[in-house]
Amino acid sequence: MRTLLNESELNEGVERLASEIDQHYGSERPLTVIAVMTGSLVLFADLIRRLSMPQRVGVIQASSYRGGMTSGELSVDANMLIDVKDRDVLLVDDIFDTGKTLDRLTGMLREMGAKSARTAVLLHKTRTHDVEMRPDFVAFQIPDEFVVGYGLDYLDMYRNLPYLAILEPAEIEATAAENQS
Ligand code: 5GP
Ligand code: MG
Ligand code: MG
Repeated sequence: MRTLLNESELNEGVERLASEIDQHYGSERPLTVIAVMTGSLVLFADLIRRLSMPQRVGVIQASSYRGGMTSGELSVDANMLIDVKDRDVLLVDDIFDTGKTLDRLTGMLREMGAKSARTAVLLHKTRTHDVEMRPDFVAFQIPDEFVVGYGLDYLDMYRNLPYLAILEPAEIEATAAENQS
């Protein structure tokens, strides 16, 4: 496992992200903050406690990384989503990769009548994206590598790591093998 961002670097990044968001929205008007499950779980808990404005907090489920690292069809489950009509909404996700997830979700929020729909991510991969939209708030720019930890998984493992890391090929193999049994 190769550490890309350690605990204190992640902390600083979330702190920066929170102050950018605070600066943009101010501390008076309520913000509806939505976690894109499951990858944003750890970031979300850290981020919302640092924001100054009153918040309505909810979740939405989106998954596209079906068999581990390969991107498949995007599926969205909005059954647990709270009311977003006429609200200023901020979607929080772990990483902006192809961009398809947040592009789709911001489109959905606008269709549901959100007054505004913006996005915040911990990580932005340096690569060409499949969509026009870009996240509004970004903590870190990272190389185009598959990363785990701080909420991000490989086959549902590694989300609990307090740091962000790149898996070695042997660890990828071992995790995949263990997942079969
Ligand atoms: P996008 O729709 O932007 O291609 O992908 C967004 C989702 O794919 C992320 O929310 C995350 O769940 C997953 N993803 C993209 N890149 C990585 C990565 O490097 N590591 C992990 N664990 N998940 C990733
Ligand atoms: Mg995700
Ligand atoms: Mg995943």
